[in-house]
Order: sequence, then C-alpha cells, then structure tokens
Amino acid sequence: MQALGSAKIFRQRRLGIAVYARGGVRGNILNYRRFRRMYCFICKNKHLFKFLDLGDQPPSDAFLRKEDLERPEAKYPLSLYFCEECTLVQIGFVVDPKILFRDYVYTTGMNNSLRANFKALVETLVSRYALTKSDFVIDIGSNDGTLLANYTPHGVNVLGIDPSSASTLAKDKGIPTEVDFFNERTALRVERKYGKAKVITATNVFAHVNDLDSFMRGITAVLREDGVFVSESGYLLDMVLTLGYDAIYHEHLRYYSLRPLKALFERFGMEVFDVERIQSHSGSIRVYAAFNGVHPTKASVGELLALEEKKGLYARQTFVEFARRVYAHRDALTVLLADVKKSGKRIVGIGAPAKGNTLLNFCGIIPETVNCILEKSALKIGLFTPGMHIPVVGEERLFAEQPEYALILAWNIAPELMSKLRQKGFKGKFIIPFPRVKIV
Ligand SMILES: [Zn+2]
Repeated sequence: MQALGSAKIFRQRRLGIAVYARGGVRGNILNYRRFRRMYCFICKNKHLFKFLDLGDQPPSDAFLRKEDLERPEAKYPLSLYFCEECTLVQIGFVVDPKILFRDYVYTTGMNNSLRANFKALVETLVSRYALTKSDFVIDIGSNDGTLLANYTPHGVNVLGIDPSSASTLAKDKGIPTEVDFFNERTALRVERKYGKAKVITATNVFAHVNDLDSFMRGITAVLREDGVFVSESGYLLDMVLTLGYDAIYHEHLRYYSLRPLKALFERFGMEVFDVERIQSHSGSIRVYAAFNGVHPTKASVGELLALEEKKGLYARQTFVEFARRVYAHRDALTVLLADVKKSGKRIVGIGAPAKGNTLLNFCGIIPETVNCILEKSALKIGLFTPGMHIPVVGEERLFAEQPEYALILAWNIAPELMSKLRQKGFKGKFIIPFPRVKIV
C-alpha cells in the first residue's frame, strides 16, 4: 500500500477496502476514489493517464463454493494507466495482497510449458555463471519449488521465498523455503541467515509486488556484488499485439516494457545488461540486471528499446487505440455468443485460468450463455467462477455431452489444447477469443 500516497489517505483507503470487501458498499469505494492520490510505481509521477476501464471485478482467483454464491462478493476497480514520464503501464487500484494471495490455488508444477521454461532457465544460469556446490541462489515467489528443483543435479545451494500455501509443497520436496513476502526486511533476515546470493530469480512475481522500492532495496541487500538478478514478467508489447487484455487482473500491478524497467534499476544503482523475449504466459520478457559496471551490456537491450519505440509503446495514442480495440473486441465476442445461443446451440468454456475471469466479467458472460467450464485441475472442479458464477466441472463432460461450441479461455495454448480434445473425441467447434474472435 505504501506506493499510494500519504498515511492519512492510506488509512482512508484501507477503510474503504475493508468495508467494500465485507459488504460491497459502493458508497465507500466512491468516497475513496475522491481521496485517491495514485502515483507511478517507478518514477512517482502523480499525473497518470487512464486509458482502459474494465469495470469493478472480483479477484480473478477468488473461485466460489456453492454455499458462498448468495453472499455479497468483493469487487474492486480494474483499470489501466499510462505514465507519460517513464512510460510504465500500471493498474489503478491495489487490492490488499492478503486478500489476493490468501487462498492462492495456482501451483507452478501443474503447467508443462512453464516447467520446461524453468528447466531451460536454470540450465542457462548454471552454465553462464558457472554455478557450483559452493554457490547460493534464491528464487523469489518460489511457489511449489518447481524452478529450484532444477538446481539439484548441480548441487547448488538454494533458497525459496514465498508467502503462499504452495510453499509447503516445496518443503515436502526438501527445498529450503522461507514462508514470507520478499521485501527489505525479509532480505536482511535471509542475508544474515544464509549470506548473499550469486543469482536471484523472480519469475511471474516482479509485476505483482506492491512495495516495489522495498523489494528493490531487498535485492540490493541480498545480491552479491558480482551477482545477477533475473526476472520474468508478462510483456506489454505482446499484450498490445495480441490484444490479450485478459492478462489484466488485480494480481498484476504493472505491465512492463523494457524502458521503465531500465529506469527502475537505475534508481537502485543497477543496470539491465541483457533481455530476451520468451513464450511464457502469451509473451513475457526475461530481464538480466546487475550492479552498475559488473557485466557488459549486450546488444539485445538497445535492440528491444528500439523495437518498443517503433511499436509506439512510449506514446499515449497507442494505448487509446488499444482501449478502442478492447471495447470492439467485447462487442464482437458478445454478439457472436448471442448469435450462437439464438440458434439453439450449447456453449461451454475450456479451462479456468485466472485470466479467463477478466474476459468473462468484462464481457458479462453469464451461465445462461456459457453453461459450464471444463477443467482438469481438481482444485477448481466443483467451484464457481468469481463474478459470473459459471460452474467449473470435470473435463470428461465435454465428451459425454458434446456441446456444439467450446470457448477456449486458455487461448495461449489453444493449438495444443484443441488437438488433445479432438484426439479424445470432442466433435464440436472451437471459439478462440484472441487475437481476433474466430471459430475453428
Ligand atoms: Zn512513471
């Protein structure tokens, strides 16, 4: 919360959130909106340009049990802002992390492509930085320990830091884990207990951190002088190109491009010396940073900055246009679904990723339109989607009931998903929502 204004406003905000979360009292949130003094997470600019409003939405991972359906559901504003000073794109309202991560049902190990990505990343790090048994590495947001487990064959000393309940899975695998949020205080404690790290990784967590300054001070406290900090985050350019606005949800506070990240590291005596675009989560960037002057800067940095400039990521007009395409996309999808329903056909959803809920809620897709969502994860089967209350059921129903249409919510893995479902005997048509709504 510290990123957002004075102590007085902070208390008023907290009050607003607390009341809103319990009873859905709109008046409080409206009051709070008047008090808000939001500023840029990176350069502290107070005059941010709001370009996209996805409405009030529940936390995207807050799946409901049947007995919760009648109770009021907490919803929070979901909108995006552009900073014309440092070009950061960020969310406008920060939900208390204790609410967001309390019942976190996501575990890294279940996702095959992420597993392969982590294995490749660790292999790269071990060979590039000659990591051996005498070295110590840290993974922030280590979840169930999937990334760290890849260091085991190399004998490298590892530590995970993660506040969620997934950390117990890591401990069961024998991976040392500190159960906490990463910040300056945690970093100083870890440094006293374990020493400084040669490599620190933070995958799909660097854009989620609320107190970014404390996080960065923590990195500088626990990273060796010659160490490397590697982060992976969803990439703004990929979101703009694919129109994948379903990547926008309350857990994701920032939508990074390279230029503002570079500015962030500079504030803490660090520099970005290498960057790669990777496939994870419909397009991400992997950013290598170190203390100034330790590693020569690779050509990749200048090249990506030039590409961002060319693609308009530093211009407000790009985001005005992005928002226009988002609203047009909602119209196209809702019209298509309505037409299908009018013809008497059935539609189900495929996969219940967190991001699916941004799409369902923004487009107002109710259970009368999409009757159920088919999912393989036992953690979500039997629950209802936040906001729209669509039941999540076991995947086998797809083959037994053969609905005419299936809307693919996990569209980033659509080709792989479709061929699997065809092999298992699904005969209906697929609706793919991004980059353009289309029927296959
Ligand atoms: Zn800024």
